[in-house]
Amino acid sequence: MRMIFIGPPGAGKGTQAARLVERFKIPHISTGDMFRAAVKAGTALGQQADEHMKGGRLVPDELTIAMLLERVAEPDARDGFMLDGFPRTVPQAEALDAALGKAGLKLDVVLVLEVPDDLIVERIVGRRSDPDTGRIYHLTFDPPPADIVDRLVHRKDDTEEACRTRLATYHGQTAPIIPFYEAQGLVRKVNGVGSADDVTARISAATLTALSARRQG
Ligand code: ADP
Ligand code: ADP
Repeated sequence: MRMIFIGPPGAGKGTQAARLVERFKIPHISTGDMFRAAVKAGTALGQQADEHMKGGRLVPDELTIAMLLERVAEPDARDGFMLDGFPRTVPQAEALDAALGKAGLKLDVVLVLEVPDDLIVERIVGRRSDPDTGRIYHLTFDPPPADIVDRLVHRKDDTEEACRTRLATYHGQTAPIIPFYEAQGLVRKVNGVGSADDVTARISAATLTALSARRQG
């Protein structure tokens, strides 16, 4: 299965993707995670990406598309993948379509996780991640165990200011890819408000409906 997760920053894409990949046995490909790994490793790509990420701006399409297409061509992604944070612009969506088309492959579903802006800042500012396991926590909504609190990471773009820039970018540059995929009949909108378990149940139902509709169609 080839699926894409779209939603504003802090909507819960990473949290939900981690749950779904276990169920569907496909790799979770997060361009944000890939960029952060490149920054940490100090590669040339990481240095370029860091400039943009710090302020909450998008990394240029050229760099992002090249990195992502290389990743989805790896053997573990041959039978499916879950993209989290890509595409974020119409040119990125077009580049992915072109590459899949060339390989005779198609997307199965585009999940749009909907969370209103006024809930986003709270989710972003309280987000912490465990560098050892990759697990995402929230100081209030999903509190970490006391013995690991000291090692948790607070992303430097998870400030209120950078979050507002990212939200504006989402509405201006990323939301226009929804009609692009709607024209292909791939979009399923899911309400991202409520407990993470409730959201997982909604996503699972939407995904299964999309898959059975595709098999019949
Ligand atoms: P994204 O990958 O879309 O940026 P995350 O999965 O990292 O979002 O979630 C952002 C923050 O919100 C994290 O701190 C996470 O623990 C928290 N979170 C995720 N899902 C929910 C939910 N359903 N309700 C409340 N908080 C949530
Ligand atoms: P969030 O889900 O909280 O918005 P991500 O971890 O997906 O954050 O992305 C973090 C940052 O990495 C983005 O703000 C952006 O600078 C960069 N980035 C990630 N994916 C892309 C992409 N597809 N195109 C451009 N920049 C990206």
